[in-house]
Amino acid sequence: MSTAPWQREWQQAIRHPASLLTRLGLDPSLHGPADRARRLFELRVPEAYLQRIEPGNPHDPLLRQVLPVDAEFDDHPGFDNDPVGDHASLAGGGVIHKYRGRALLIATGACAINCRYCFRRHFPYADANASSGQWAQAIDYLRGDPSISEVILSGGDPLSLNDRRLGALGESLAAIPHLRRLRVHSRLPVVLPSRVDEALLAWLTGTRLTPVMVLHANHPNELDERVAERLQRLTAHGVRLYNQTVLLRGVNDRADTLEALGERLFDLGVQPYYLHLLDRVRGAAHFEVDTATATSIMRSLAARTPGYLLPRLVREVAGEPWKVPIDWTRPQPA
Ligand SMILES: *Cc1c(COP(=O)(O)O)cnc(C)c1O
Ligand code: SF4
Repeated sequence: MSTAPWQREWQQAIRHPASLLTRLGLDPSLHGPADRARRLFELRVPEAYLQRIEPGNPHDPLLRQVLPVDAEFDDHPGFDNDPVGDHASLAGGGVIHKYRGRALLIATGACAINCRYCFRRHFPYADANASSGQWAQAIDYLRGDPSISEVILSGGDPLSLNDRRLGALGESLAAIPHLRRLRVHSRLPVVLPSRVDEALLAWLTGTRLTPVMVLHANHPNELDERVAERLQRLTAHGVRLYNQTVLLRGVNDRADTLEALGERLFDLGVQPYYLHLLDRVRGAAHFEVDTATATSIMRSLAARTPGYLLPRLVREVAGEPWKVPIDWTRPQPA
């Protein structure tokens, strides 16, 4: 199979702090920390994402999501390697079946970008992802439980799989009679929009399963014209689009930022869905927004936004049968 343009872009992603800092005209003093912390979790930024970062601004909200920093070495109580209990819920073959009716399949551990707050930093993907020859086991699991009507492809990023592998997976899933929906959780349309090409559109709409896509955008600056154009293609093909956001300190922890994000998403045909409190993963404590601040941001947002643009503020709690909604309507003790 020939290499698609998105695959070339992926291969050419920036991986060295020196090239990132030079490209953005940033202070070389950021290099030491970035070089240390990338040993905890590699640096990876695709060109399409880099172009949306403001040159010369060390506080840029997109830069903050990808630049390794010394704070990642700090240990904080409660921040550990498996904050949402996923290792315990692995049903085999990379399936995580925590909620009734929906099963999540870790289709691959790979991703086009490395977000510093990602729980993937520590996930044992080598054992857990369904692509290491284990899809058969995952498919068996899904086939064996008629209560499952929706399969969620996740990762890593499932859209980092090539078209051939996606095609094979989609066919196996479509052959399971009780499945109705194919839901794809992906940040690629945002960070590597060229992934939304004709082949992907054909794949999404090419089986009897109803395609649903849940994007991951955290800031309105992430949604530039290239992203807009690809999202419009998805909606034109009838793919329903939702978005989840992680509430991140120094990135989007202001009502006006979240308001602008919601407005922009709406313009692009995307429904805001979840606003997640940070999963407490080791090395990401400097991104945490405490619950009192989060609920206060939600109250400001609710006071200036149509109700249908309000995301649901949730936290993932191990052992709960849903993502736990946080009541933001009353001030919370700090
Ligand atoms: C988030 C998640 C889902 C989907 O939950 P929804 O409330 O349907 O969006 C399903 N399975 C797992 C393991 C999840 O983490
Ligand atoms: S896009 Fe998602 S899976 Fe990939 S690094 Fe970022 S948060 Fe993690």
